[in-house]
Amino acid sequence: MGDLVLVTPGRPSLTPLGGGVLFDNSSCRNRMSKSTQKPGFRLSSIPEGVEPVHKLAQLGTESPEVLTDDSSMHLNPQSRFSAKGAFQKRARVKYLTSALSVRLANVPNTPLIKSYWNTFYCSSIMQKKGEHLVAKFCKNRWCLVCNRIRTAQLIKQYLPTIQSWDDKHFVTLTVPNCSADDLEVTIAEMKSVSNRIRETLKKQYQRKQRATPLVGLRKLEVTYNPTRKDYHPHFHFVVSNRETADDLRRMWLSHFQKAKWQGQDVRKADDRSSLEMFKYFVKLVSSHSKDRLILVDPLDVIFQAVAGERTFQAFNVKVGKMTTDEEADALADELATEAVYRWEQSVTDWVDIETGEGLTGYQPDEQFRELVEKRIILATTPKNLS
Ligand SMILES: [Zn+2]
Repeated sequence: MGDLVLVTPGRPSLTPLGGGVLFDNSSCRNRMSKSTQKPGFRLSSIPEGVEPVHKLAQLGTESPEVLTDDSSMHLNPQSRFSAKGAFQKRARVKYLTSALSVRLANVPNTPLIKSYWNTFYCSSIMQKKGEHLVAKFCKNRWCLVCNRIRTAQLIKQYLPTIQSWDDKHFVTLTVPNCSADDLEVTIAEMKSVSNRIRETLKKQYQRKQRATPLVGLRKLEVTYNPTRKDYHPHFHFVVSNRETADDLRRMWLSHFQKAKWQGQDVRKADDRSSLEMFKYFVKLVSSHSKDRLILVDPLDVIFQAVAGERTFQAFNVKVGKMTTDEEADALADELATEAVYRWEQSVTDWVDIETGEGLTGYQPDEQFRELVEKRIILATTPKNLS
């Protein structure tokens, strides 16, 4: 593999695409010093407020047109699998991720600049080696390429267990919105409260005061409110039964005096809606009246706050075997030669470096091209919008 050389900052790993390496805690090397300077994006007085109760439809924080994925495939494993079609979806998120990472790296004073450049180079070069496609992955939390692979792996690992829960429930736990400066400490406090609740439930279970400990999955999400210019960190849980769901909400409110009853939500879950637990943890696209924008400096604030942190965690859930990257293995199977492919942003595809031939044939539609080329901007200079 030594013939694949990329000049990248940091130490990205060289991994067969089938290698199952995208654990949630893999970006610990990106943990930032708490004293690192945050970008010059500051907020004035923040009103205390409570977000409305989450509708189930809002659970998915990814923008469907950005991250259209085929997670439903996991519920219908008989669906026909096309290696090239699957890789066009990867080309789509690579196209967006490349543009986004450059804009993020140019956010003034961001301490994540090296990590963003790592993401820019993520899987830029791919080559078939034996039965696998080989590429370097950045494994950063915000990378849509890595996240897409990781989502597929988490679904394979956890969905069979979740499907076996007859009484599964969603729980959304929130706190009042916070400023950029307070985001990191707010998330830490939320995790601490969540962990204390888990300990209490465990003790109650051990004393035979309840039927189960906390059995479920927890996902951290953070959204940005462009009107109020504040942040909304919250947890989504899917838990094995209604009793746990109600107790979670009740205990959250008793620990978190600032949290309001109407900010919390409990509702029945099904297999399909449970898939939301595995998707991207940030809403990339925000709406400004009629305009859809990707605001990079608020995203940078969020990515700083979660650098090196887990956004997904499982409690007392049976984990299936880590699977390989089926998309990549299938494509490797279809490739006749061991050609080297390099990502070309202008072509929106990986191209054979010898022949210039595109790997997937992906072409973005006009709307998506405009989003990627023109609408990834700094929130602090909204007049940039053409
Ligand atoms: Zn990546």
